[in-house]
Order: sequence, then structure tokens, then C-alpha cells
Amino acid sequence: MSRLKNKVAVVTGGNSGIGFGIAREFKNEGAKGVIVGRNQETLDSSVAQLGDNFIAINADVTSLADLERVFKETSEKFGKIDVIVANAGGGAVGTVATIGEADYDKTMDLNLKSVYFTVQKALPYMNDGGSIILIGSNAAHRAYANFTLYGAAKAAVIYLAKGFSSDLLDRKIRVNVITPGTTDTPAFEKFVPAEQIEAVKTHFASVMPTGRIGQPSDIGKTAVFLASDDSSFMLGAELLVDGGMTYLA
Ligand code: NDP
Repeated sequence: MSRLKNKVAVVTGGNSGIGFGIAREFKNEGAKGVIVGRNQETLDSSVAQLGDNFIAINADVTSLADLERVFKETSEKFGKIDVIVANAGGGAVGTVATIGEADYDKTMDLNLKSVYFTVQKALPYMNDGGSIILIGSNAAHRAYANFTLYGAAKAAVIYLAKGFSSDLLDRKIRVNVITPGTTDTPAFEKFVPAEQIEAVKTHFASVMPTGRIGQPSDIGKTAVFLASDDSSFMLGAELLVDGGMTYLA
């Protein structure tokens, strides 16, 4: 298939989990572009799997200077940018009783500030008529123990898809947001002790209406749709890709 033939995409967090799943589906549809992350080892191994049409840029999405460098380098290398995926993110685990100022700032910087400035810094280099895809979370819709602040940041990301779409109407840049439910990625390792990971995944699968948790390819295929002209009538929209977990479980 070649729904993204010759499109140039930048995927933040494209070296792991959902971001890599998105980059892989983009590649399968003929796109080229850039994956962004901080871990050089996973950047190298991921970009090797994506082939010659992709490069990796080591950058921190919470740094405005790094973001400027990412889009400048992408534009110099590929001559244009058609698609941005603001995917990098992650949660600080805790409740209102335990998350202090430092973790508050870290969570908001990674999940909200980075998304805002990823888009702002991409704009000077981006083609009119392009597509921007934000990655939110179903945690924005349903309270999960210990994900209060993360859910709040992701709720703001859902709003940003609407606000950015309005801001960018004159450039015909569409902004939409995907809200994944529980998805099988290395992020599990950050929250669950190694020996419990399989049991936790099995538990989540057992309560899902679909009987399985999500795979990065589920989100990747949705991102292909939003990046392609097939979704040209969609802007400011949210696509919940959660196997029914949020409202049916
Ligand atoms: P992973 O931990 O597998 O991947 C996170 C990615 O973000 C990594 O590539 C990481 O790269 C990158 N990243 C993190 N911080 C930074 C930073 N400061 N600068 C640059 N890159 C950074 O997580 P997932 O794939 O699970 O998560 C991807 C997105 O999906 C996140 O926004 C997450 O909130 C969201 N999500 C995930 C769900 C799930 O169940 N997995 C459910 C709902 C939403 P590096 O380490 O190299 O910096």
C-alpha cells in the first residue's frame, strides 16, 4: 500500500512502543522521515528496522532548542515536512496526596508543554495542507488510580487538537488526536515490576471487551488514516482506540 507515498513525517518517541508502531506503519505506506528520542541505542536499532528512508535524531522534546533543531534538520534533509506525530509522553505515578511540584512540572512538561512546542516549532517548516497527529490517552476520560495528573495533561492535549485546528485553518493544516487505551509497549516496564508484567497484561486483556490489549500497530494504522488524504474532512477530532475499555469495560 502507498497511502503516504513521498510524505515526510516526524514521529516523536518513534524509537519505542506506540511511536515505533506508527513509524513502521508509515514506512509500510511509503512515507519517509524522522524518529526522535533520547536513547541512542533504541534510536539506532529502530531506525535500522525502518530502512534507508528514515533517520533518527537524538533530541529532548521538552527542550525548545532541541525541537527547533529537529525540524530544521528534517527540512534540510528531506526538503519538506507533511506530517507531525507528537507522541512522546509518559506518566508520573501518584495521587494528589503524593505528586509534588517537581513531578508535577515533569509530567506537564513531557505531556503538554512538549506537544504545544513540538507543533509550534514545526510550523515554520511544515507544508500547508499537512496533518498533525497528537497522542492523548483514554486516561483523559476515565479516572485510573495514580494517573490523575497524567490524565489531566492528556485531557488538555485533546483540547489542543481543537484549538490548533482553529489556529491553523488558514494554512489548511489538520490537527487530530488519537487516544489509545492500554497498549502493549515498554512503558509497562516503568510502572510494573518485571516479574508481574505478563500477569498484569493478562488481567487487562481479561477485562477488555475485545479480550486483548492494544498493539502499537492498532495505533499506527489509525495514524496512517489521519496522516493520509482519506481523513481530509477531519480536523479537531479525537479517535479513541481502546478496544472498548473506556466506556464498555
Ligand atoms: P514508551 O515508554 O514505549 O515510549 C515513550 C517514547 O517517548 C520513547 O520513544 C521515549 O524515547 C520518548 N520520550 C520520552 N520522553 C522524551 C523526551 N523528553 N524527549 C524525547 N523523547 C522522549 O511509551 P508508549 O509507547 O507506551 O507511549 C507513547 C505515547 O502513548 C505516550 O504519549 C503515552 O502517554 C501514550 N499512551 C500510552 C498508552 C499505553 O498503554 N502504552 C496508553 C495511552 C496513551 P527516549 O526514552 O529515547 O527518550
